[in-house]
Amino acid sequence: MQIFIGPLVHTLNPTTIEYSSLSILGISSNGIIDFITNNVTSDSVDRTIETLLCDAENMKKGWSKDGNVARIVLKNGEFLCPGFVDTHTHAPQFPNLARGQQYELMDWLKCVTFPAEERLKDTEYASVLYKEVVRRVLAFGPTTCCYYGSLHLEATKALADECHSAGQRAFVGKCNMDRHSSETYVEPSPLHSIQATEALIKYIHTLSPLPTSSPLVHPIITPRFAISCSDELLKSLGSLASKHPQMAIQTHISENAKEISFTKELFPSAPHYAGVYDMYGLLRKGTVLGHACHLSEEEIQLVKQRDAGIAHCPTSNFNIRSGMARVGCYLDRGIKVGLGTDCSGGYAPSILRTIQDACITSKILSLTPTISSQFTSGLEGKHLPISTLLHLATLGGASVCCLEDKIGNFVVGKEFDALVASVPGAGGEGRFGGGGNPGVWYQENDTLETLVERFMFGGDDRNIKDVYVCGRKVSGWGQ
Ligand SMILES: [Zn+2]
Repeated sequence: MQIFIGPLVHTLNPTTIEYSSLSILGISSNGIIDFITNNVTSDSVDRTIETLLCDAENMKKGWSKDGNVARIVLKNGEFLCPGFVDTHTHAPQFPNLARGQQYELMDWLKCVTFPAEERLKDTEYASVLYKEVVRRVLAFGPTTCCYYGSLHLEATKALADECHSAGQRAFVGKCNMDRHSSETYVEPSPLHSIQATEALIKYIHTLSPLPTSSPLVHPIITPRFAISCSDELLKSLGSLASKHPQMAIQTHISENAKEISFTKELFPSAPHYAGVYDMYGLLRKGTVLGHACHLSEEEIQLVKQRDAGIAHCPTSNFNIRSGMARVGCYLDRGIKVGLGTDCSGGYAPSILRTIQDACITSKILSLTPTISSQFTSGLEGKHLPISTLLHLATLGGASVCCLEDKIGNFVVGKEFDALVASVPGAGGEGRFGGGGNPGVWYQENDTLETLVERFMFGGDDRNIKDVYVCGRKVSGWGQ
């Protein structure tokens, strides 16, 4: 059992952010948030803790004054933030990080991406690579991550193993692709693709959950995108999805102009791109749609109707010149939106970087007079405020993954997926104090609001001191 004592920030919805200058959180040995008291004064901490430990409800949960409770007291410049949710990334593409920016999507796939993914046929290479990938992703703060694997079953099992053993909450999918790739990197038939997908689902379900909570690693059905899947494969994936109505699905949609026109050519009977997935029963609650840069009005309405979510990947959208997603518009319509690093279309596995690029995307859109909205009182056409940006990275992402009742913010009964963010002051130990980011430090009179803003806009992995998933520390440089 652990008690955290320190400032806290989280969101309740896209426009409501809560700051507490000093909170006390009790985390059960199962990683559940048992109690929270916000805005405590510093001279009443001990007294408040004693009251909480003697509270009848908390005692029923196993808390007592004489119990074995670890106290974690945050230092100056530190605060608790919900764990980040990365709703879209590609584990086999990590060796390509920070290269390939000269291409647009279709050439980028052919010239750098498919060759990198093909290497995963070597399962030993997969184990070594994926250990490194998960370790690095966790260091950037995503406590939950939606991973695309390669086409290979064994390699993708290795990815699920690594998430499981590192203690990361994850959705792991084997890519489905039976056409429009290279001769040596394509599945031989729809049947082969489906059988391997079923085998992966079965395998991930055997990974044991934590002692008393639900599994951390989930399978996710992963057609790469409509172009790479024959009608027969999409049909089979649709029936697989209907056999598993709660299972998550991830794919790409409306990323780039050439991709959209090729999709229309391949599926002339579909009303539009979103309609292709809908036709095959793949657009539903729990579907995570990567990019969504150029959705038409009809598509936006359909996505909302089906209760699918959108993974906004602004770093990738800029890097391979795909476009800009109208996140404000989607949120105004009540569509669930989270952030995705989309490595290696995006060049960094950093959600903080993605937050910064999501902000820039909204600012560019706000400077574009052609964007008009019937929801003028909403977020469309405006720069996204701090509350929205933090929401996208945390609770918004959780809702895209249908995990909003479990994680995403600090609420009694939820699992404690959290970061200890650190913005050290001037001076301090070591190189620039704490994690050593020279670009950001707190000033004497900073409020918590200012500190959070500094973290979001000047921070990187060096400002993420500790990473907790379900109460267990899984990464970070803090002792
Ligand atoms: Zn992607």
